[in-house]
Amino acid sequence: MTSPSADPAPSGSELVLCGGIPAGFGARLFASAAARTVFARPHGIGQRWQATPAGLRSAAELGRAGRRPANSLAPDGFQFGAPTRAEVAVGRERPESVMVTRVEPLYDVHEAQESDAEPTADRLAEDRRSASRWAAEVLADPNAVIMSVSSIGEPPRHTTRPLQALSSCEFTVADTAGSVLWRQLVNPEWGRLPQRDLAAWGLSADQVADAPPFKEVSPSLIEAISGKRVVLFGRSRAYASLFGDFEYEILRDRAPDGDVFLDHLEILSTLGRSWWECAQLNAAAFFGEWNAATGAYVVPADPAEGRSGPARCRAIADLLRTMATPTRYRDLDRTARETTAAGRSHRARPRVGTQLSRSAAARQAVLERSLGACENPSCPSPRYTSDRSVSGDYLLEVDHVDDHARGGADLPEAMIALCPNCHAVKTRGTTGEQMREVFRRAARDRHRHVLGQA
Ligand SMILES: [Zn+2]
Repeated sequence: MTSPSADPAPSGSELVLCGGIPAGFGARLFASAAARTVFARPHGIGQRWQATPAGLRSAAELGRAGRRPANSLAPDGFQFGAPTRAEVAVGRERPESVMVTRVEPLYDVHEAQESDAEPTADRLAEDRRSASRWAAEVLADPNAVIMSVSSIGEPPRHTTRPLQALSSCEFTVADTAGSVLWRQLVNPEWGRLPQRDLAAWGLSADQVADAPPFKEVSPSLIEAISGKRVVLFGRSRAYASLFGDFEYEILRDRAPDGDVFLDHLEILSTLGRSWWECAQLNAAAFFGEWNAATGAYVVPADPAEGRSGPARCRAIADLLRTMATPTRYRDLDRTARETTAAGRSHRARPRVGTQLSRSAAARQAVLERSLGACENPSCPSPRYTSDRSVSGDYLLEVDHVDDHARGGADLPEAMIALCPNCHAVKTRGTTGEQMREVFRRAARDRHRHVLGQA
């Protein structure tokens, strides 16, 4: 590499390794005292970003005082941490020694807990509700897309060589139902392609070697996600990979001295045109398993391990649906109650004689509650009909446990979703009456479980 800059920095280049969690994630970015001192020149970190406020601390700082963040997965800010020197090699060129600063998450010192404190039941329930509301909002947002970024290399925290960090090899953008809108394989242009890493993403070295480089792909990628609410599974890794792709283009074409940092601002501003949200972090709060050692919710595993982008997008869409169910269910249950209270569900329909109309909300609520599986607890094949109907609903039959005509309530807690087999057993089988008792309890238990009242 050459150094064409007219204003070489006395302390080396301001190469910024963002650690995968920089600005654009909704929390503010600050500069630590150490970063402000080292990068004090014009346009440097010390000039561009304010000093970290006293009320925000890194997890390590809190740890030294015997405290931990309220939830280490939900930072209140980020800071450029203490700079370190690192060897950086671009492509096959000789490594150079540059200054690297990582972006660290920060936490509100007033919210910090004793190191071994567990979250209260109220806190767990509130986190679960807010994760569910988030998923329901995403599904209802026409501006939201699901994105999968398959990448090889090392996550930034595990390497001191930023340019050997993550590099993308496949992008997939889908709508929130999981249908692919745009997909592109990318050749990461590294000297070697680790087969093992690619297999984890359902890709082969041949597929990737034949693909265009990131530079040719990036304009259509930006078009696909610009201005969008982008939902990923594993946001930090995906974002770090994308950031690394842009960074590699800059560093390959230009020397990193002097003006590199302004290019990093450009990358941040390009990526800042999208909203980046993480299904994995929200799912961790939704499933609510607390890890006392890390002081955070247990992060769920990739639901599409070993499968490529389109399958991952569908898995994320399914996850969103699962998470949104309690919120959707609560809303539909409320509507069904209001309908019943207003007497509308028992209004006789013309032309159908004595048949009573049903509350559409109650029926929809039961389908949402079922997540596509038969609710008979002893169903031999509950997922047999997990296909969808032409209208997109789960292919299950919603039944009043006690016949509606004989007074069974038009409410989700008195109704059950059954596969055609179980439905036939209940209505025509010899064990129908026994099943009715089982279903009554199953419907009530499922109802309470989904509402979080179990
Ligand atoms: Zn069944």
